[in-house]
Amino acid sequence: MSDIADRLNIISDKIKQAADTCGRNPSEVQLIAVSKRKSVAAIQAAIKAGAGHFGENYIQEACAKIDEIGKDAACWHFIGHLQSKKSKIAVEYFDYIHTVDTIKLAKEINKRAAAIDKIQNILIQINISAEESKSGTTPDAVLTLVKEAATLENISIQGLMGMPPYLSDPEAVRPYFKKLADIRDQIKKENIPNVEMNHLSMGMSGDFVVAIEEGSTMVRVGTAIFGRRD
Ligand SMILES: *Cc1c(COP(=O)(O)O)cnc(C)c1O
Repeated sequence: MSDIADRLNIISDKIKQAADTCGRNPSEVQLIAVSKRKSVAAIQAAIKAGAGHFGENYIQEACAKIDEIGKDAACWHFIGHLQSKKSKIAVEYFDYIHTVDTIKLAKEINKRAAAIDKIQNILIQINISAEESKSGTTPDAVLTLVKEAATLENISIQGLMGMPPYLSDPEAVRPYFKKLADIRDQIKKENIPNVEMNHLSMGMSGDFVVAIEEGSTMVRVGTAIFGRRD
Protein backbone atom coordinates (compact mmCIF):
# COMPACT_ATOMS: atom_id res chain seq x y z
CA MET A 1 0.00 0.00 0.00
CA SER A 2 3.02 2.31 0.17
CA ASP A 3 2.56 2.83 -3.56
CA ILE A 4 -0.74 4.62 -2.74
CA ALA A 5 1.11 7.03 -0.47
CA ASP A 6 3.76 7.61 -3.14
CA ARG A 7 1.20 8.28 -5.85
CA LEU A 8 -0.81 10.57 -3.57
CA ASN A 9 2.31 12.63 -2.99
CA ILE A 10 3.00 12.84 -6.70
CA ILE A 11 -0.58 13.92 -7.48
CA SER A 12 -0.58 16.49 -4.66
CA ASP A 13 2.65 17.95 -6.01
CA LYS A 14 1.23 18.11 -9.52
CA ILE A 15 -1.91 19.86 -8.25
CA LYS A 16 0.18 22.40 -6.39
CA GLN A 17 2.41 22.96 -9.39
CA ALA A 18 -0.55 23.36 -11.76
CA ALA A 19 -2.16 25.91 -9.43
CA ASP A 20 1.10 27.82 -8.95
CA THR A 21 1.77 27.91 -12.69
CA CYS A 22 -1.55 29.55 -13.46
CA GLY A 23 -1.48 31.91 -10.49
CA ARG A 24 -4.09 30.18 -8.39
CA ASN A 25 -3.88 29.37 -4.71
CA PRO A 26 -3.30 25.60 -4.40
CA SER A 27 -5.65 25.52 -1.39
CA GLU A 28 -8.52 26.33 -3.78
CA VAL A 29 -8.13 22.92 -5.38
CA GLN A 30 -9.43 19.94 -3.43
CA LEU A 31 -8.20 16.48 -4.35
CA ILE A 32 -10.98 13.92 -4.25
CA ALA A 33 -9.54 10.41 -4.28
CA VAL A 34 -11.95 8.28 -6.30
CA SER A 35 -12.09 4.92 -4.58
CA LYS A 36 -14.83 3.09 -6.45
CA ARG A 37 -14.18 -0.64 -6.67
CA LYS A 38 -11.21 -0.20 -4.33
CA SER A 39 -10.90 -1.89 -0.94
CA VAL A 40 -11.34 -0.50 2.55
CA ALA A 41 -7.62 -1.21 3.08
CA ALA A 42 -6.74 0.95 0.07
CA ILE A 43 -8.89 3.82 1.35
CA GLN A 44 -7.39 3.51 4.82
CA ALA A 45 -3.90 3.61 3.33
CA ALA A 46 -4.84 6.81 1.52
CA ILE A 47 -6.26 8.33 4.72
CA LYS A 48 -3.06 7.44 6.54
CA ALA A 49 -1.10 9.14 3.77
CA GLY A 50 -3.12 12.33 4.23
CA ALA A 51 -6.09 12.07 1.86
CA GLY A 52 -9.23 13.52 3.38
CA HIS A 53 -11.78 13.44 0.55
CA PHE A 54 -13.08 10.38 -1.26
CA GLY A 55 -15.38 9.93 -4.23
CA GLU A 56 -17.63 6.91 -4.66
CA ASN A 57 -20.00 5.93 -7.48
CA TYR A 58 -22.11 3.05 -6.24
CA ILE A 59 -24.34 3.57 -3.19
CA GLN A 60 -24.35 0.04 -1.81
CA GLU A 61 -20.63 -0.49 -2.20
CA ALA A 62 -19.88 2.95 -0.80
CA CYS A 63 -22.07 2.66 2.29
CA ALA A 64 -20.63 -0.71 3.25
CA LYS A 65 -17.12 0.74 3.05
CA ILE A 66 -18.06 3.96 4.88
CA ASP A 67 -19.63 1.92 7.69
CA GLU A 68 -16.36 0.10 8.10
CA ILE A 69 -14.10 3.14 7.85
CA GLY A 70 -16.31 5.58 9.73
CA LYS A 71 -18.23 8.51 8.34
CA ASP A 72 -16.16 11.00 10.29
CA ALA A 73 -12.84 9.59 9.07
CA ALA A 74 -13.11 11.52 5.79
CA CYS A 75 -15.29 13.79 3.67
CA TRP A 76 -17.40 11.62 1.34
CA HIS A 77 -18.44 12.69 -2.16
CA PHE A 78 -21.05 10.88 -4.20
CA ILE A 79 -20.04 11.16 -7.86
CA GLY A 80 -22.07 8.39 -9.53
CA HIS A 81 -25.51 8.46 -11.07
CA LEU A 82 -28.09 8.76 -8.28
CA GLN A 83 -31.56 7.27 -8.55
CA SER A 84 -34.20 9.24 -6.63
CA LYS A 85 -35.11 6.20 -4.57
CA LYS A 86 -31.54 6.04 -3.23
CA SER A 87 -31.61 9.68 -2.09
CA LYS A 88 -32.32 8.84 1.53
CA ILE A 89 -29.21 6.75 1.96
CA ALA A 90 -27.08 9.15 -0.12
CA VAL A 91 -28.10 12.02 2.17
CA GLU A 92 -27.29 9.97 5.25
CA TYR A 93 -23.81 9.04 4.08
CA PHE A 94 -22.44 11.77 1.83
CA ASP A 95 -21.18 15.27 2.53
CA TYR A 96 -21.47 16.25 -1.14
CA ILE A 97 -23.60 14.89 -3.98
CA HIS A 98 -22.04 15.96 -7.29
CA THR A 99 -24.58 14.52 -9.68
CA VAL A 100 -27.90 16.32 -9.30
CA ASP A 101 -29.36 16.79 -12.77
CA THR A 102 -33.15 16.98 -12.40
CA ILE A 103 -35.52 18.96 -10.19
CA LYS A 104 -37.15 15.68 -9.19
CA LEU A 105 -33.88 14.44 -7.74
CA ALA A 106 -33.18 17.80 -6.06
CA LYS A 107 -36.61 17.74 -4.41
CA GLU A 108 -36.17 14.18 -3.19
CA ILE A 109 -32.75 15.01 -1.72
CA ASN A 110 -34.23 18.11 -0.09
CA LYS A 111 -37.03 16.09 1.47
CA ARG A 112 -34.64 13.47 2.82
CA ALA A 113 -32.24 16.11 4.14
CA ALA A 114 -35.09 17.95 5.88
CA ALA A 115 -36.12 14.71 7.59
CA ILE A 116 -32.74 14.46 9.32
CA ASP A 117 -32.28 18.19 9.79
CA LYS A 118 -29.35 18.43 7.39
CA ILE A 119 -28.37 20.95 4.76
CA GLN A 120 -27.11 18.77 1.92
CA ASN A 121 -24.33 20.14 -0.25
CA ILE A 122 -24.95 19.40 -3.90
CA LEU A 123 -23.48 20.20 -7.28
CA ILE A 124 -25.42 20.31 -10.51
CA GLN A 125 -24.09 17.93 -13.15
CA ILE A 126 -24.04 19.23 -16.70
CA ASN A 127 -23.60 16.99 -19.72
CA ILE A 128 -20.96 19.21 -21.30
CA SER A 129 -20.10 16.71 -24.01
CA ALA A 130 -23.76 16.22 -25.00
CA GLU A 131 -23.12 12.47 -25.21
CA GLU A 132 -26.31 10.47 -24.91
CA SER A 133 -24.61 7.92 -22.66
CA LYS A 134 -23.83 10.54 -20.03
CA SER A 135 -25.98 11.93 -17.26
CA GLY A 136 -26.39 15.62 -16.58
CA THR A 137 -28.68 18.46 -17.46
CA THR A 138 -28.05 20.51 -20.60
CA PRO A 139 -26.29 23.88 -20.68
CA ASP A 140 -29.61 25.40 -21.83
CA ALA A 141 -31.65 23.96 -18.99
CA VAL A 142 -29.21 24.50 -16.14
CA LEU A 143 -30.23 28.03 -15.12
CA THR A 144 -33.89 27.06 -14.76
CA LEU A 145 -32.89 24.01 -12.73
CA VAL A 146 -30.60 26.03 -10.45
CA LYS A 147 -33.27 28.69 -9.86
CA GLU A 148 -35.87 26.10 -8.98
CA ALA A 149 -33.53 24.04 -6.80
CA ALA A 150 -32.40 27.22 -5.01
CA THR A 151 -35.83 27.51 -3.42
CA LEU A 152 -35.37 24.18 -1.61
CA GLU A 153 -34.34 24.94 1.94
CA ASN A 154 -32.38 21.83 2.83
CA ILE A 155 -29.98 21.79 -0.08
CA SER A 156 -27.08 24.11 -0.72
CA ILE A 157 -25.98 24.44 -4.34
CA GLN A 158 -22.20 24.57 -4.27
CA GLY A 159 -21.33 24.51 -7.95
CA LEU A 160 -21.21 22.49 -11.13
CA MET A 161 -19.81 19.11 -12.10
CA GLY A 162 -18.99 17.90 -15.58
CA MET A 163 -17.16 15.25 -17.53
CA PRO A 164 -15.63 15.85 -20.95
CA PRO A 165 -15.75 13.11 -23.56
CA TYR A 166 -12.99 10.55 -23.28
CA LEU A 167 -10.11 11.87 -25.37
CA SER A 168 -6.53 10.79 -24.92
CA ASP A 169 -5.10 14.28 -25.49
CA PRO A 170 -5.79 16.47 -22.42
CA GLU A 171 -5.62 19.59 -24.63
CA ALA A 172 -8.61 18.31 -26.58
CA VAL A 173 -10.76 18.43 -23.44
CA ARG A 174 -9.82 22.00 -22.53
CA PRO A 175 -12.78 23.54 -24.42
CA TYR A 176 -15.19 21.42 -22.38
CA PHE A 177 -13.69 22.62 -19.11
CA LYS A 178 -13.81 26.20 -20.38
CA LYS A 179 -17.46 25.76 -21.22
CA LEU A 180 -18.32 24.49 -17.74
CA ALA A 181 -16.42 27.41 -16.17
CA ASP A 182 -18.28 29.86 -18.43
CA ILE A 183 -21.64 28.45 -17.40
CA ARG A 184 -20.62 28.71 -13.76
CA ASP A 185 -19.65 32.37 -14.25
CA GLN A 186 -22.96 33.13 -15.94
CA ILE A 187 -24.96 31.55 -13.12
CA LYS A 188 -22.86 33.35 -10.53
CA LYS A 189 -23.67 36.68 -12.14
CA GLU A 190 -27.38 36.08 -11.50
CA ASN A 191 -26.75 36.30 -7.74
CA ILE A 192 -29.42 33.76 -6.94
CA PRO A 193 -30.06 33.48 -3.19
CA ASN A 194 -28.95 30.15 -1.66
CA VAL A 195 -26.63 29.47 -4.61
CA GLU A 196 -22.88 29.53 -3.92
CA MET A 197 -21.41 28.42 -7.27
CA ASN A 198 -17.89 28.45 -5.85
CA HIS A 199 -17.09 24.92 -6.91
CA LEU A 200 -16.23 23.38 -10.24
CA SER A 201 -15.89 19.61 -10.01
CA MET A 202 -13.90 18.68 -13.09
CA GLY A 203 -10.71 16.86 -14.01
CA MET A 204 -9.75 13.19 -13.63
CA SER A 205 -6.50 11.21 -13.74
CA GLY A 206 -5.73 12.04 -17.35
CA ASP A 207 -6.68 15.70 -17.45
CA PHE A 208 -6.70 17.25 -13.96
CA VAL A 209 -3.85 19.66 -14.77
CA VAL A 210 -5.82 21.18 -17.66
CA ALA A 211 -8.94 21.27 -15.46
CA ILE A 212 -7.07 23.23 -12.78
CA GLU A 213 -5.82 25.67 -15.40
CA GLU A 214 -9.47 26.22 -16.36
CA GLY A 215 -10.65 26.81 -12.79
CA SER A 216 -11.40 23.42 -11.25
CA THR A 217 -11.79 23.43 -7.46
CA MET A 218 -12.43 19.70 -7.09
CA VAL A 219 -10.42 17.18 -9.08
CA ARG A 220 -11.68 13.60 -8.99
CA VAL A 221 -8.67 11.33 -9.35
CA GLY A 222 -8.92 7.55 -9.16
CA THR A 223 -6.57 5.52 -11.32
CA ALA A 224 -3.57 7.78 -10.79
CA ILE A 225 -3.81 7.15 -7.02
CA PHE A 226 -5.19 3.65 -6.64
CA GLY A 227 -4.08 2.03 -9.89
CA ARG A 228 -6.27 0.45 -12.53
CA ARG A 229 -9.71 -0.83 -11.59
CA ASP A 230 -10.52 -4.48 -12.34
C1 LIG B 1 -14.27 6.92 -11.97
C2 LIG B 1 -14.52 8.37 -11.98
C3 LIG B 1 -13.48 9.30 -11.81
C4 LIG B 1 -12.02 8.91 -11.69
O1 LIG B 1 -11.52 8.53 -12.92
P1 LIG B 1 -9.96 8.18 -13.12
O2 LIG B 1 -9.77 8.27 -14.59
O3 LIG B 1 -9.77 6.81 -12.59
O4 LIG B 1 -9.18 9.20 -12.40
C5 LIG B 1 -13.82 10.64 -11.76
N1 LIG B 1 -15.09 11.06 -11.87
C6 LIG B 1 -16.11 10.21 -12.04
C7 LIG B 1 -17.48 10.75 -12.15
C8 LIG B 1 -15.86 8.84 -12.11
O5 LIG B 1 -16.89 8.00 -12.30
